[in-house]
Amino acid sequence: MTATIYMDYNATAPIRDKVIETVASAMAEVGNPSSVHTAGRNARRLVEEARSKIAVLAGARVRDVTFCSGGTEANNAIIRGCGAASIIISAIEHDCGLAAAELAGVPVYSLPVDKDGVVKMAALRYLLDEAPKPALVSVMLANNETGVVQPVSDVASLAKMHGALVHTDAVQAAGKLLIDFSALKVDYLTLSSHKIGGPQGVGAIVTAPTAPLKALVAGGGQELGRRSGTENVAGIAGFGEAAIEALAELGDMGRIAALRDRFEAAVRAISNDAVVVSAGAERTANTSCVAMPGVKGETQVMHFDLNSICLSSGSACSSGKVKVSHVLAAMGYPDDIANASVRVSLGRLSKQDDIDKLIDNWKKLHERMMARNTG
Ligand code: PLP
Repeated sequence: MTATIYMDYNATAPIRDKVIETVASAMAEVGNPSSVHTAGRNARRLVEEARSKIAVLAGARVRDVTFCSGGTEANNAIIRGCGAASIIISAIEHDCGLAAAELAGVPVYSLPVDKDGVVKMAALRYLLDEAPKPALVSVMLANNETGVVQPVSDVASLAKMHGALVHTDAVQAAGKLLIDFSALKVDYLTLSSHKIGGPQGVGAIVTAPTAPLKALVAGGGQELGRRSGTENVAGIAGFGEAAIEALAELGDMGRIAALRDRFEAAVRAISNDAVVVSAGAERTANTSCVAMPGVKGETQVMHFDLNSICLSSGSACSSGKVKVSHVLAAMGYPDDIANASVRVSLGRLSKQDDIDKLIDNWKKLHERMMARNTG
């Protein structure tokens, strides 16, 4: 049997061995972190140790980290709970950010991006003048489909001049870029555990000391009242462990970028028509979005899957209908290119041999498509 080559780290990263150990040992303990007895205090210690580690990952103060169930909840909590009079949100945010904005009950303004997928500062300036104040500006640090890194500290400086609050979704930046919450000058930041090799279903909201936040989940007042519900102790402990390992591996990004560049160079050599999305923009080292015109993204995903390579297509399938990627559409790509794209996202276990197999399979599929078109 051929071993599976996993190239979908942006969907979820393989869980780390040490994280599994940490989660298992936390699960073997009994104790509610809100209980005052010894067992409860032990559980509380696990949560607080993890909080310190997440603070290091985000470059934030320990008390400004709130645990929750993941990136989706964090984005909803911030966007719907910040109390802004309007929301200016980039057109390329993750679906959960866009959907949260629609539910916030205030006017929503879409911030456009240029052809490389970078937010347009002139448009932001205009929208900040237009939007009811105070506005919340939400711009992600790195995009999940293209890896494009956004100028978040510039966005924040401009937004602050207009009295706006600023949120950045750093789910796809964590573990790939060094994050410094205070240097970014944002009020809110979103993190998710499973994108850095931690367990799924855990995440964090980072808030500046002065940032308003009305709890989305109310109840027993856990997490300083910012997010009620008994903490997921084992998951949080695993998230903390993953954060420390992910930070220690930032030095591996050069190797990962070289693997990505090898793939993109090969694709260009095989086909003049291939489109490497945002090739000229600043991107996270691990992400490549490539279109093979004439072959649907889903067909490509199936072809690679049959050859034991896991990656994803740019388009999303919901209720039987294939939806064109809103990210590529916002960048101005026509549907036929957007629908022919796949995302390769690499990580700590990716090797050169994996890339060579990917290139080999890409070439085979391309040759088959050419033969079909000329036959
Ligand atoms: N934000 C971004 C940029 C993401 O890529 C994702 C997941 O794909 C999320 C938010 C949602 O995170 P979670 O899966 O932890 O809910």
